[in-house]
Amino acid sequence: MAVHEIIRMGHPTLRQVAKQVDPAWIGSHEFDALIEDMQDTLNAAGGIGLAAPQINVPLQIAIVHLPGGEGRYGEIPEVPLTVFVNPEISVLDKTAAGCWEGCLSVPGLRGYVERPQHIRVDHLDEHAHERSFEAQGFLATVIQHELDHLAGRLYVDLIEDSRLLAYEREFVQFGLGESCNPSFVIR
Ligand code: ZN
Repeated sequence: MAVHEIIRMGHPTLRQVAKQVDPAWIGSHEFDALIEDMQDTLNAAGGIGLAAPQINVPLQIAIVHLPGGEGRYGEIPEVPLTVFVNPEISVLDKTAAGCWEGCLSVPGLRGYVERPQHIRVDHLDEHAHERSFEAQGFLATVIQHELDHLAGRLYVDLIEDSRLLAYEREFVQFGLGESCNPSFVIR
């Protein structure tokens, strides 16, 4: 068990396309230790998702864990820890909605990003079983954000209007919005 340093925007690993995981490696002691370390790191940081490149491991692995209830992102659904290995994303409905996103690799900022709100992810789980995961709404946004890390993308790349980027403190202070439901849009 170990909490790793989360690398930040500017670190070249965050801009690489992560490598596919050899399915035969899944379930090995090293693989299990990596997943455990990712969980520990996510919990220590108080986040809801983490991609392996964020701890400087450029592999196609991401985890998502939404504790549910009221928190930093407003009212969110509960999603148990889910491990995505070699994920492939399909957009089931292109209808997009915006959320104020944050990122552990871009600390202190929030930015408004629009993404499709209905997706499916085909992936391997932590036992190398093939899985298909369907997500809507906020969860669809969270998963797309995490899987973008595996493609070397950060949410800030998707902000269409740079006026919709704010420091977290000011975001709260001036009530710029709530999670996926902005009460205030600077136009
Ligand atoms: Zn992120």
